[in-house]
Amino acid sequence: MGRVPVHEDRRRSFPGQPPEESGDPVDDDSPCLDRGALDWADNILGPLPLPSNKAISMPDARSRRVAARGRETGLSEARRRIPKRDSSWRRPSRRRVAAIRDRLRELYGRPVWKPHGHPIAELVRTILSQNTNDRNRDVAYSRMRERFPTWEQVRDAPPAELEDALRPGGLSATKAPRIQHVLEQLGEHPDLDWLASASREEALDFLTALPGVGRKTAACVLIFALGRPEIPVDTHVHRVGGRLGLFRPRASSEEAHDEMLAITPPEDAYELHLNLIRHGRAICRPRPHCLECELRRMCPAYRSGAVSGYMVPRQR
Ligand code: SF4
Repeated sequence: MGRVPVHEDRRRSFPGQPPEESGDPVDDDSPCLDRGALDWADNILGPLPLPSNKAISMPDARSRRVAARGRETGLSEARRRIPKRDSSWRRPSRRRVAAIRDRLRELYGRPVWKPHGHPIAELVRTILSQNTNDRNRDVAYSRMRERFPTWEQVRDAPPAELEDALRPGGLSATKAPRIQHVLEQLGEHPDLDWLASASREEALDFLTALPGVGRKTAACVLIFALGRPEIPVDTHVHRVGGRLGLFRPRASSEEAHDEMLAITPPEDAYELHLNLIRHGRAICRPRPHCLECELRRMCPAYRSGAVSGYMVPRQR
């Protein structure tokens, strides 16, 4: 039997898809996705998941086996905790997640995961990164460490002096007292090295109990400093992951964290996190460049037409 051009049929099955002319010039003439690549996407991904009330209300035998097998692990715990609240979304299979990982890897490479082993430094850097870019954050961090080489000195510094050191990072009047308040919670000699051997639950509970520290900051500390598998969901990961259907499009940050952790093999956590950010910065921006995106064949937001009103060509 000849191969059915399923990619065209599938498009028609999605409501809201903008009308297309026969031949689909967007995909067929694309310089970045040839016919072989389209077939690859069809074969690897199969049809995009459609709502299935049966699948949502009654987990199949395999799902029950997987849940039973990993009941003691944090990942399974995260998976079980997440309610399926949106009947138009289904959790992607591991195969689908792997296909997205592989396509991102082709585009952006495979980053080397080298935890630096300094959890307090990561915690402070993450606090400093709020509402600023990486360069300004790094300038502020360096100035602070030059003036106050130890964490005790940072904690005990006159607030005005610390604020002055942090000024290049923006919001220094807010960040300086927040950093000092956090350091006050870490003992006479501030230390977070013990997190390396704590359980994941214990580590997350401790970090998120610190003033002004949320789930994303805690995840940054665990993955970047200690090499523990986490996927910090920042604004890029939240936007791109939602569009790619990795979690519900309107998922809260907390839910997105749980979902990302549940669907990502630990060894892929760092790579997927960084490459989703790279894709969010380069292509899948708030107004996405879908026509140049090599993930559009596997992107529910594009295929359903949900982002069509926001698509813009890239400035050359
Ligand atoms: S097709 Fe568009 S919405 Fe989907 S991942 Fe690519 S840029 Fe983002």
